[in-house]
Amino acid sequence: MSSVDSQQRILSGMRPTGKLHLGHYHGVLKNWVKLQHEFECFFFVADWHALTTQYDDPSGIEQSVWDMVVDWLAAGVNPGSSTMFIQSQVPEHAELHLLLSMITPLGWLERIPTYKDQQEKLREKDLATYGFLGYPLLQSADILLYRAGKVPVGADQVSHVEITREIARRFNHIYGREPGFEDLAEAAIVKMGKKNAKLYRSLKKRYQEEGSTEALEIARALLKEQQNISLGDRERLYGYIEGGGKVILPEPQPLLTPESKMPGLDGQKMSKSYNNYIGLREDRDSVAQKVRTMQTDPQRVRRTDPGEPEKCPVWGMHKVYSDEATCAWVQDGCRSAGIGCLECKTPLIEAIVEEQKPLHERAKEYEDNPDLVYSILQEGREHARDAARDTLEEVREAMGLGYR
Ligand code: SF4
Repeated sequence: MSSVDSQQRILSGMRPTGKLHLGHYHGVLKNWVKLQHEFECFFFVADWHALTTQYDDPSGIEQSVWDMVVDWLAAGVNPGSSTMFIQSQVPEHAELHLLLSMITPLGWLERIPTYKDQQEKLREKDLATYGFLGYPLLQSADILLYRAGKVPVGADQVSHVEITREIARRFNHIYGREPGFEDLAEAAIVKMGKKNAKLYRSLKKRYQEEGSTEALEIARALLKEQQNISLGDRERLYGYIEGGGKVILPEPQPLLTPESKMPGLDGQKMSKSYNNYIGLREDRDSVAQKVRTMQTDPQRVRRTDPGEPEKCPVWGMHKVYSDEATCAWVQDGCRSAGIGCLECKTPLIEAIVEEQKPLHERAKEYEDNPDLVYSILQEGREHARDAARDTLEEVREAMGLGYR
């Protein structure tokens, strides 16, 4: 695969934490469902990542993987439009992790902001392990193994993509310098024909002298169109624009996803650890019960007291689920004490239940037929391994391990 095509490739994973909730649905899965129609998507279950913090009790991992994959499918992640697989079933992740560990300075891992944060947060666990320190590198290997050009992340995860970029740059710098690189690149330019060669040179100059990302984009598109050059030449020219060597592992870009607006039942971020969540496939009665017992504006003690929606977590959910007319009804009714809180919650319950209906239906289909889920994962694994093997072949070759 050419590194230029990596711009169309997306990689994203989730740790298996068991059944997902509506925060995951609105924050991640709806986005995946959209992305799968726009890009070539690889979605994986990060079970090795789960072990970096759960190494002392892996008993729940298998069930969590199952529940999570059924949730993905229920949410509309489509095996016909994306590749779904389990990380540990593609051992190439481990090999690339090992190879990249040879060139990764310790300081790069230690300075990742989430490293110290997580150690603080999970203080009851001994996380002074080799695996935990290396998990951002494992993430980098996950991304680079597929030469994914884009990684959907929230703002707090950008540093992980950044370290992946640094590792890719370092790798390409060390191993992409083949003997006679410049001569080979110059010869490849000539192969594109006079007009394209001239355009390529001017874009390269613009990028190198002015740092124009627009020039970089146009040059990439130009290379993608070329029929007369080999894959190797294309990768050389791709690296040559930036003044480096051959690009073996392209640098990924973060694809910033807006933070989920889905609040938890108490108004904080929806999370299993806060026990303030509604499950993605929770049944109707339980959803109704949870919403009915939600805290409201603490100032609104009696039905006749006017309230303030901005101080009420129910309003936060209305903003996700309700149309304009309902939102206006909530705001007016709350502030004028024209509606009671239970009344206010009723359309919300209905909207949540309505949204969940197709999810329940799809999930049932898969739960009734577990073999179908296994075959989706099996197919995903094969497809992922094909892509992973292509990358590793080049990586091994570049690192002097290309034995026959
Ligand atoms: S009326 Fe609605 S928005 Fe106002 S306090 Fe009650 S539940 Fe919250």
